[in-house]
Amino acid sequence: MSTAPRRKLIAGNWKMNGLSGSISLANEIRDGAAGLREGVDLLVCPPATLVAQVSQALKDSPVAVGGQDCHPEESGAHTGDISAEMLADAGARHVIVGHSERREHHGETDALVKKKVAAAHRAGLVAVACVGETRAQREAGEALAVVRSQVQALLDQSVNSQNMVIAYEPVWAIGTGLTPTVDDVAEVHAAIRDVLVSVIGAEEAGRVGILYGGSVKPSNAQELMAVENVDGALVGGASLKAADFLAIARAC
Ligand code: PEP
Repeated sequence: MSTAPRRKLIAGNWKMNGLSGSISLANEIRDGAAGLREGVDLLVCPPATLVAQVSQALKDSPVAVGGQDCHPEESGAHTGDISAEMLADAGARHVIVGHSERREHHGETDALVKKKVAAAHRAGLVAVACVGETRAQREAGEALAVVRSQVQALLDQSVNSQNMVIAYEPVWAIGTGLTPTVDDVAEVHAAIRDVLVSVIGAEEAGRVGILYGGSVKPSNAQELMAVENVDGALVGGASLKAADFLAIARAC
């Protein structure tokens, strides 16, 4: 497996938060990004209504912009949906797919998430694909099997380190203030890496970013970001305050 150091990615998922006034949040993040060490990248994923405006605000800055979801198809009769091509056209370079809130509230299956990964790639976007077990699955000792199977379902030979980031987000840790132990995070991230190796080979698998997400905040970021195979964070609540988001990035 490649031993080249992977870059860290700190990605902010604004979820359904933000009006046009939130461009100031993007501006603050852009200004703070200048002080980060080399090797740390930032991504903000505002609601779809703000992707174009935030992209404009972050133009010529090192901070990338992403969508939070996309439809598998390029266009068509899908009222209310947004295609990966539309996100790319609005300035996005990434798109989150398979977030547990979409899996839970919109019934998204592994098969649908895989189609969304393909849509992201068709549009030239990096897919930030989320996986993670529920509390019941962890308590039943099924966390590793669940995550392995979710990752396996997303992958094929077309996946590489330039078009895919995996985010391990235990469902029970999202927005709750709870986090797994660093040993549990290390175990799941190693398992994800193993699945990647089995599908795309050790060399390329060694370059794919695997983020941890779920109640990351400035006070726990350093510990979590130091775990082996943790290549950054997907941050929800704490990404809505520039100071907290930047503090997490500085903890890498
Ligand atoms: C998320 O929803 O992707 C997330 C990680 O949320 P939070 O950081 O608020 O737990």
